[in-house]
Amino acid sequence: MIGVETDWECYAMVELMECSICCKPKKENLILLGKNICSECEERIVQSNAGDLSYSVFLEKIKDILRTAGSKEPSIW
Ligand SMILES: [Zn+2]
Repeated sequence: MIGVETDWECYAMVELMECSICCKPKKENLILLGKNICSECEERIVQSNAGDLSYSVFLEKIKDILRTAGSKEPSIW
């Protein structure tokens, strides 16, 4: 096939899942309620401090995952 990005070449071999934080197709790493958090983002979360701006951004993303997964209502966004 022509025009296949290198990133996607291993798609058939390795299960790629969109990371819910950086929104890139990444290898399954940490599955939180059916959503993937790639190793890079996980590391960034772990390395960020509670006072960091990035920390609160990650926290919001995770809260978002929990909210979406916990919602019993059909998606009406
Ligand atoms: Zn990520």
